[in-house]
Amino acid sequence: MNTSSTRTTPTSTARGLLAAALAATAFLAGCASSIGTQDSTRSGSYTEPPLPAKAIPVETDTPLPNPNDQQCGDPTASLRPTGSGVAAGGPTIDAIRARGRLLVGLDTGSNLFSFRDPVSGTIVGFDVDIAREIARDLLGSPDLIEYRILGSADRERALQEHTVDVVAKTMTITCERRTKIAFSTVYLRADQRVLAMKNSGITGAADLAGKRVCVVLGTTSLDRIRREQPAATLLTVPTWADCLVVLQQRQVDAVSTDDAILAGLAAQDPYTEMVGDSISAEPYGIGIAKEADDLVRFVNGTLERLRTDGTWVQIHERWLAALDPTPTPPAPTYQD
Ligand code: GLU
Repeated sequence: MNTSSTRTTPTSTARGLLAAALAATAFLAGCASSIGTQDSTRSGSYTEPPLPAKAIPVETDTPLPNPNDQQCGDPTASLRPTGSGVAAGGPTIDAIRARGRLLVGLDTGSNLFSFRDPVSGTIVGFDVDIAREIARDLLGSPDLIEYRILGSADRERALQEHTVDVVAKTMTITCERRTKIAFSTVYLRADQRVLAMKNSGITGAADLAGKRVCVVLGTTSLDRIRREQPAATLLTVPTWADCLVVLQQRQVDAVSTDDAILAGLAAQDPYTEMVGDSISAEPYGIGIAKEADDLVRFVNGTLERLRTDGTWVQIHERWLAALDPTPTPPAPTYQD
């Protein structure tokens, strides 16, 4: 498992993080303008240069999971909140309060959702703000968080192994995932779409036959594009940010994942654009360990507060205005 951890309020590492963020920005800028600049960029003085991603063919011999194999009714139906704030309790909540920090799994290269602010070096974004609100209700401060950096394929296992309390990482609620973990109510409605270079002639998933498409392993995006466009050649890289790099390098012709993630990539490269209609609805939930009903109800209480006190709209306007300028919070569905 490729995981590492960091804290939210690092002062000792702030300078190093800033240097790394600026180095990454410089590197990506180099990739965007000319692949030939990579070697000179890499000869800089920073110790861990971001390496250019190499897109690897996806093994498509394995049978696609049949979506009808896992039926769970409405996968987005979650447990009704019993209230949030100091009064709410339960074994999982008590353990987090005893520890004094909420362990949040996310990734740090996901523009708009969870990424390092290049100036402050802290992790910011839509998913980060949602996690901070959970910490605020649970522990009395949004800063009492420890982040665990997760790849897309690591999310369920991190919850099953209790290395994180919650996963806030653009995670689609599915019946298949609900056999392993629990989810909050929906906190964002995304849709899978396609990102391509402007004037590429690609106008949607139908044009991807015979084309190379970048995806990340362990995602709903990969299974969906395999099903919808079996004639595409799928290539994989570790993160969605790497997909932008390999698109810029012309190792692939397109990227397909959630519009929310693609909007973050498009914002980093004006030569790219999102194309085509929705390929599938991707409702995002906070991932929680399966047996932790008290925490599920607590998080749903926080989400209820964010929907009603205006915080959700503020957070959405802060990060995702480009996606939807007049957002309304997704209505919750409860199973009890
Ligand atoms: N929403 C998709 C999923 O949960 C992709 C998100 C991601 O890779 O972070 O698989």
